[in-house]
Amino acid sequence: SSLPPPRSRIFKIIVIGDSGVGKTCLTYRFCAGKFPDKTEATIGVDFREKVIEIDGEKIKVQLWDTAGQERFRKSMVQHYYRNVHAIVFVYDITNAVSFQSLPAWIEECRQHSLGQDVPRILVGNKCDLRGAARVSTDVAQKFADSHSMPLFETSAKSPGDNDHVEAIFMTVAHKLKSQK
Ligand code: GDP
Ligand code: MG
Repeated sequence: SSLPPPRSRIFKIIVIGDSGVGKTCLTYRFCAGKFPDKTEATIGVDFREKVIEIDGEKIKVQLWDTAGQERFRKSMVQHYYRNVHAIVFVYDITNAVSFQSLPAWIEECRQHSLGQDVPRILVGNKCDLRGAARVSTDVAQKFADSHSMPLFETSAKSPGDNDHVEAIFMTVAHKLKSQK
């Protein structure tokens, strides 16, 4: 078509998983480049964005992070699931329950029309605590495969993992850019 391109595209990515898995820390790490000094429990929806550049095009990446199972979620849910481009599911490798919750989160997305056709990735966080792991890479990989999602294990906290956290979100952004 002959329409000029919009000034800056927006990719809306929701970050979803149980409370305490590190969603806020991961999004902060990507958007601010460091682990937060302190975090407060998310109330409602936390929203962060960062402008990135891919092939010379500026793209605004919006990360939406919810309050897990807190009661504030209910009223925010419609807003949260609207116009989503990609989903990042997060569990904590030291918390088996957070891994067992994933099917329910996947199902909730499906109920909001966010199924296989929306790019989805699985992130196992807190790999700096590998010694206390309760979810093995093998089991997580099988789960990811069965849902056609790539798996990334990472740490929002480990000082060495900044590039990795960035790479995870950049992978999603590249995938979205290549789709459109
Ligand atoms: P959310 O409820 O999913 O948003 O989780 P938060 O980002 O608020 O993190 C919950 C707790 O886990 C906080 O005490 C964080 O400091 C801690 N945390 C988050 N990411 C990591 C990580 O990669 N490693 C470790 N050791 N702790 C983390
Ligand atoms: Mg949070």
